[in-house]
Amino acid sequence: MMGMGIGMDEGDILLLIRRIALRNAVEHDGKARADKVTAKIIAMRPDLRGSVKILIPTIAGVVEEINRLSIDEQRSELEVIEPSMMREGRVESEAEHKQHVLPPLPNAVMGSVVTRFPPEPNGYPHIGHAKAVIIDEEYARMYRGRFILRFDDTNPAKEKREYYDAILDGLRWLNVKPDLIKNTSDDIELLYKYAELLVEVDGAYVCTCKPDTIKRNRASGIECECRSLGRDEHMERWSKMFNEYRPNQAILRFKGDMRSSNTVMRDPTLFRIIEHEHPLKGNRYRVWPTYDFAASIEDSIDGVTHALRSKEYELRNELYYAILDRLGMRKPIVLEFSRLEFEGMPVSKRRIVPLIEKGLVRGWDDPRLPTLVALRRRGIQPEAVREFVLSLGFTKADTKPPFEVLEAINRKVIDAHAIRLFMVRKDDCIRLKVRELNKHNTDMMRREDGGSDISTIVVRIRNHPTNDALGSREVRVGDEFYVPLSDVRDAIGREIRLIDLYNVMIESRDDDGRRGEGYEHVVYARFTGYEVKDVKKVQWVSVDDAIDGVVLVPRQLYIDDSYNAESLETVHAYVESYASKVAIGSIVQFVRFGFCRVDAPAVFIMSHK
Ligand SMILES: [Zn+2]
Repeated sequence: MMGMGIGMDEGDILLLIRRIALRNAVEHDGKARADKVTAKIIAMRPDLRGSVKILIPTIAGVVEEINRLSIDEQRSELEVIEPSMMREGRVESEAEHKQHVLPPLPNAVMGSVVTRFPPEPNGYPHIGHAKAVIIDEEYARMYRGRFILRFDDTNPAKEKREYYDAILDGLRWLNVKPDLIKNTSDDIELLYKYAELLVEVDGAYVCTCKPDTIKRNRASGIECECRSLGRDEHMERWSKMFNEYRPNQAILRFKGDMRSSNTVMRDPTLFRIIEHEHPLKGNRYRVWPTYDFAASIEDSIDGVTHALRSKEYELRNELYYAILDRLGMRKPIVLEFSRLEFEGMPVSKRRIVPLIEKGLVRGWDDPRLPTLVALRRRGIQPEAVREFVLSLGFTKADTKPPFEVLEAINRKVIDAHAIRLFMVRKDDCIRLKVRELNKHNTDMMRREDGGSDISTIVVRIRNHPTNDALGSREVRVGDEFYVPLSDVRDAIGREIRLIDLYNVMIESRDDDGRRGEGYEHVVYARFTGYEVKDVKKVQWVSVDDAIDGVVLVPRQLYIDDSYNAESLETVHAYVESYASKVAIGSIVQFVRFGFCRVDAPAVFIMSHK
């Protein structure tokens, strides 16, 4: 209980941990899960995220303690410390719980809610997009409504075909299924009509002032002369935007309030001239709407009832509603949620693209990035992303949880399906030679050639301690092994167990003879038996079965806002040859190292411990 070392209301925190762990246990047949409890605590108390590493052992202890109680004991304690969690003597159902994570939408009618996810195809989708799209889809399903994916592709200078595909691919990976997929660029001529309508009702005007002047006037709240010209003049100027004016010579501006305290309302741009080939429309158009104009009109005509967007757009809501008001169009309800990003991992393309260009990361799928392709490549599972997003809930407070929270959820998802393999790092490796092994024989071994020489045998090892469906593998074993130097360095004269094989007595270390490459010293050992004993367990890779493997270990990309030059470690290791037979994309667990995704034959990316 004492010494969590977070120097704050420890008593309150312990009570919170206990309450959440109890609730989690009661909801899951008496078994709480430490990762879920951790995620929930961080969601409820974002101020604790910096202390999560200190809290994890405490949480694990509380969870263990609670899991030893009977479910009735758990239930009655929960009733005492949090009666509101019990509904008429029972704990709320999963669906009710989800309603707490995602609170009911205002004015939502079952069967007619429409949500949308409107990404601009100007980069690869990242964890922040995952949050938006998952919440949008969950709400649509919760109300048996519809969910639209709309590419907001109205800035051709920044958009690429590659990014449309990346977004579709990311959503497919997350198992998000839109009911409708559309592009704002398909509606561009309709958007022109709304622009003209807006000019007609004196809601917009074409400004031909210089960009510098516009900027200065907006800052000081001064109206320009264009604003007071007549409607016919603006209609004419508008038509000249399509063929006469050069880029930056004219923009269509909303007639807002140049003295508004919300600077967004100071006659913002609605359309501008961009001469750039569009990834879908080619060179057919040169007048393109801004996000502000396109989003409000599109949401309204698409039937969106609840427009969810991240909090950074909060100041733009006034404009969103004002455009629709001026046009007399139906207004969706706009709701904000907090952005999601990880500590030390940039999400914005403005920061990622220069990293790629300078070669500081190896592309959008570099495992140090929070893009969906990178998370996937690192071995994070889409179910874990969804669970993680929902565990944080629909909060307005900004969330920057440590990556460890996602790792903890992911570990639970992959643990039962990851093949356990041995590996020995080359920077911590020694050869172990078993003398006179030929004298011994055993049931567990079968000779490879049917003869009596067992200098090379084949052993069968289970691929997972509990999941039989993962099968087993055959390993060729001679009398030499690679073992971790740190495990045997101080073991001279002691017995150790080669895991899943047999026991040996370490007899001597020969640093002088047979020195191959620098790490290849030898220790000699003597076979002592098969029975599992209480001795040090050491993993091994048979020299007869070893292949060279490479493991990339991603670490936090930025530390205190500066690039971490050591953010990607390359570990060279001996691994079992079976590792090269595991399908690319599968997850393996290297014993005492961590979970890794198979990235290429004999190349692995570490997911997490
Ligand atoms: Zn002007």
